[in-house]
Amino acid sequence: MLRQEAIDTAEKYYLPVFGRLPIVLDHGQGCKVYDMDGRDFIDFLDGIAVNCLGYNHPVIVKAVAEQAAKLMHCSNLFYTEIQAKAVRVISEITGMDRVFLTNSGAESNEGALKLARKYGHQKGGEKKYRIITAKMSFHGRTMATLTATGQPHYQEGYNPLPGGYEYVPFGDIEALEAAMGDDVCGVMLEPIQGEGGVHVPPEGYLKRVRELCDKHDALLIFDEIQTGVGRCGAWFEYMNVNVKPDILTFAKGIGGGFPMGGFAVPEKLARVFAPGDHGGTFGGNALACAVAYAVVTTLKAEGIVPKVKEKGEYFLSKLRELQAKYPEKIVEVRGRGLLVGFETSKPGAPIVASCLEQGVIVNCTVGNVIRMVPPLIVSKEEIDKVVAALDKALENF
Ligand SMILES: *Cc1c(COP(=O)(O)O)cnc(C)c1O
Repeated sequence: MLRQEAIDTAEKYYLPVFGRLPIVLDHGQGCKVYDMDGRDFIDFLDGIAVNCLGYNHPVIVKAVAEQAAKLMHCSNLFYTEIQAKAVRVISEITGMDRVFLTNSGAESNEGALKLARKYGHQKGGEKKYRIITAKMSFHGRTMATLTATGQPHYQEGYNPLPGGYEYVPFGDIEALEAAMGDDVCGVMLEPIQGEGGVHVPPEGYLKRVRELCDKHDALLIFDEIQTGVGRCGAWFEYMNVNVKPDILTFAKGIGGGFPMGGFAVPEKLARVFAPGDHGGTFGGNALACAVAYAVVTTLKAEGIVPKVKEKGEYFLSKLRELQAKYPEKIVEVRGRGLLVGFETSKPGAPIVASCLEQGVIVNCTVGNVIRMVPPLIVSKEEIDKVVAALDKALENF
């Protein structure tokens, strides 16, 4: 197929739910991805914070090939050695005792919300069901997770939505305090909002959230699907702010490009679900586990996560220089580690287009936030190239 034929065929057969760029990607290497015509791009979107070791990392390629040749899938009615090894390392990096594995972020959050509901019923009966989440949050596309997502446009047209969900402004502790009660079973937050525009909450906010959850015996759920697996310079952002959730959800980076996710809990919550209360056919299959095991052990062995902080600070400082150069065009620079963004004074799409022309992939979320989530293996030179492209894009913006 030629490039245009691939686009036309996809447009003909795929449901038209995505606003796609007119580029047909073909292969990748490190932080670079190449299209069908051989054009190369430095990718600072990274499959949306997924390809944490970049494209085509030899350890991942080897893990997939070897596991696929051996055993891909056998259902959770059996044990596999690779699943045992995967949940052991995931337990280590999450700082949690027990892990459940899924195939996506939404499925991970769905399980976490179910666990919170079950916990509520066990602790306070049918009345302890309320779930509080934040406005501008993003938690997924299933019925429960789009309901948990505090952005009305994800919910329009899907009524009736599951009941019992309420939203408070992110970072506003008084609003949460007013909404809390003993009938709340869970509070679900991203410790840094990603899709909602890279919002870092005020210092101390999450600690107060933890206290309110303790006071009302509600489970604190951190959705670390975007912030986790080293993205913010610690294994999980909760470690940066030193506030431990009761349920930690993860996905995106854990599979390094393979669809995988899960949630993790401390031992005291290990038996909220009785055998048979929750499950899944594919979650934690041997192939996914082999990839996750390869990703985590490689991140560890190469000491990649501690370097994320340093690279992120460098990136943020360069973006602040751009802000000083274009004060009327950049409203604010935000982020932590390699989850960084800047808010623009008008819609940011032309910046994405200009960068693309210059061979750089960045993303615009909520219309006016340029978000960048490069592979964790990114180099300073690559950051410099992207900053130069942004500079040029901003010049004519
Ligand atoms: C991407 C994302 C999700 C949804 O993950 P999917 O794999 O697309 O279902 C949920 N929460 C956060 C914070 C995310 O960034």
